[in-house]
Amino acid sequence: MSGGTILGLRVDNLTLTQAVEFLLAHCRGESQELLQVVTLNPEMVVRAQRDEKLAAVINSAGLVVPDGIGVVWGLGQLGTPVLERVPGVELVERILAQGAETLGRALRVFLLGAAPAVVPEAAQAVREKFSGVEVVGFHHGYFTPAEEKKIVQVISAQAPDLLLVGLGSPYQELWIDYHRNELKAKVGIGVGGTLDVLAGRVSRAPLGWRKLGLEWLYRLLQNPSRLSRMLALPRFVLMVMAEKYRKQR
Ligand code: UDP
Repeated sequence: MSGGTILGLRVDNLTLTQAVEFLLAHCRGESQELLQVVTLNPEMVVRAQRDEKLAAVINSAGLVVPDGIGVVWGLGQLGTPVLERVPGVELVERILAQGAETLGRALRVFLLGAAPAVVPEAAQAVREKFSGVEVVGFHHGYFTPAEEKKIVQVISAQAPDLLLVGLGSPYQELWIDYHRNELKAKVGIGVGGTLDVLAGRVSRAPLGWRKLGLEWLYRLLQNPSRLSRMLALPRFVLMVMAEKYRKQR
């Protein structure tokens, strides 16, 4: 798969449609290996510069998509432009919508993450909205380390096609990687706040904002406590510009 590199991290160059096809082909295939999907945003890129483990997990994932507009911009600056932005929430919605048709049977999905009151709502909303999906189980994301083993067993007993892990980054990426050998699931995606969106607790930015690349600003206005996280953005821009300068010399 062709792709780009941003500050030492690999990003695959697929359109949203191609990414959906790639993941559903894996669900249909024989491989029992869990394919990990990382939806990369600038905050993760900045963190991975000082977190070797996170960088290694990203670089060994089965698919890395440019979730944030900043990542798309950075890849362009560094001479490896990608076809388009692939937002995690859209990737998930498209797989849920198309899965049954591609597989010729229901797409089996497990939801892990979000608050205890939210994840049942997300499961219910998925059942109502996507007739081809069977939600085979769900669990909230506020568990203790002692509960982890049991949760992995519950997921594996269902052997879902798709495991959506919304624990926040980088925890969700590290969690999938850590359990990858025991987890029986075809595809595992770190989805951040997507379960909150599916549950209708958080709304996505209107299309006009998204087209202008301002989804991050909309989310910040909805939830000002994200401001401290946003401070990674100027650092990200500086890091990309420094790397571009280094490459040009
Ligand atoms: N979350 C969780 N367990 C935790 C911490 C966070 O399940 O220990 C959930 C949280 O409820 C939310 C998601 O992880 O649903 C993180 O959402 P956020 O908006 O931070 O992620 P983003 O989409 O920005 O990556």
